[in-house]
Amino acid sequence: MTIAIQPETWSPAKGGLIGFAAHAAARLQQTDPDLYDLLEQENTRQDETLMMVAASSIADPSVLACSGTALGNLTAEGFPGARYHGGCSVADEIERLAIARACAAFGARDAIVQPHSGTSANLAVLSALLKPGDTLLGLDLDCGGHLTHGSPASITGRWFRSVGYRVTPDGYLDYRQIRRLAREHRPKVLICGASAYPRTIDFRRFRDIADEVGAYLVADISHIAGLVAAGLHPSPIDHAHAVTTSTYKQLYGPRGGLILLGKDADAAGPNGGSLAGALRRAVFPATQGTPDLASVAAKARALGFVAGGEFAELAKRLVDVAASLATTLDLRGLRLVTGGTDTHMVLLDLRGTGLTGDLAERALESCGIVVNRNRVPGDTTPARVTGGLRLGSNTLAARGLGPAEAAECAHLVADVIGALRPDADQPLDPALRSAVRRQVAEICRRHPMPGYRF
Ligand SMILES: *Cc1c(COP(=O)(O)O)cnc(C)c1O
Repeated sequence: MTIAIQPETWSPAKGGLIGFAAHAAARLQQTDPDLYDLLEQENTRQDETLMMVAASSIADPSVLACSGTALGNLTAEGFPGARYHGGCSVADEIERLAIARACAAFGARDAIVQPHSGTSANLAVLSALLKPGDTLLGLDLDCGGHLTHGSPASITGRWFRSVGYRVTPDGYLDYRQIRRLAREHRPKVLICGASAYPRTIDFRRFRDIADEVGAYLVADISHIAGLVAAGLHPSPIDHAHAVTTSTYKQLYGPRGGLILLGKDADAAGPNGGSLAGALRRAVFPATQGTPDLASVAAKARALGFVAGGEFAELAKRLVDVAASLATTLDLRGLRLVTGGTDTHMVLLDLRGTGLTGDLAERALESCGIVVNRNRVPGDTTPARVTGGLRLGSNTLAARGLGPAEAAECAHLVADVIGALRPDADQPLDPALRSAVRRQVAEICRRHPMPGYRF
């Protein structure tokens, strides 16, 4: 049977993917106006707020375009050249391109681009290297570690025997303590990397400790992947046995994760065979099913940008903007964990001000400034309340703000925090709120989301 091609069906002559994207959005508007309106509202909200959540960034529209193509329809269990379904010839080329670009961006020997998230990447790696009950040594959650580094709230803290290292009272990693704990507990995996740590991580030192006790070293660079790719933070690629990252933070990519391998890619894995092979099997079939090829294409697009020449400039701005935020907040009398930053991240310690992270986050959001409450070292407040705030420069830098404008933003943050009266009926003076909102709107107008105006 032949299927008649209607004139209104897919046709490259009608604009190819470009026409398709416009057609798809129009179709959504016609068939589901409620959802369309919500999605429009979200675009506007992002354009009109100062996003300073350190774990977020803005994907270029060309990245988002990949996620919205028919490639997402494809079921393709397996890896390029070794699939369990037909119809994968184009997908194989796209996945190979994503792998090549990941390797180019990080100087890696091999890359696995299928993990659905940073969490999935970590679960795959840990499930490959550890058996239930084996010991995992990672940074405690309340010292800036990630849930998947052995927190009791994650299966990594329940399936493995999890031991945590902590930061010093002034917020720095304490390599002597890590070494002592490694010698005492003989972990099979030592994991480094953090969700809330503003300083440089010494991956070589971590590897020395891992080697001393015969542990695998896993480096999770979810937060600093862009700086690593740009050479503005030391790279763990050849120090760690496996490197993991999420792709939507400093890589400006889609939701997703990556596993990267350096000089140990061909070393023996836990059950014979290579480490790279063991980690690939840990993603599929051990912990994931079909990959999301549209997301893999979006990763390829984002990694192409990271590996390209323009990214270095953005990465430099990331660091300069964060330094300016830190300097200004410090000048305004706020307390910074470690006193400053080497990265894109600034951690504010609000303890001693009578404020909680929760209250400050809500007050700032009411002014159009989006940050997140975060525990700080030694924090005893619940995770939903917290005694601190985490700020980051990924989005400000991408919107083209420089250090001077970052200082303007930091002053607005300090104005709001300084004016908060937690016990008052209205913790934030409405007149101040209006004034800050106006300035935020003005900064956002000057710096629209890059590539989103057409
Ligand atoms: C964000 C983050 C993750 C998790 O990434 P998701 O893609 O959100 O699952 C893992 N590790 C660290 C250190 C992170 O900061």
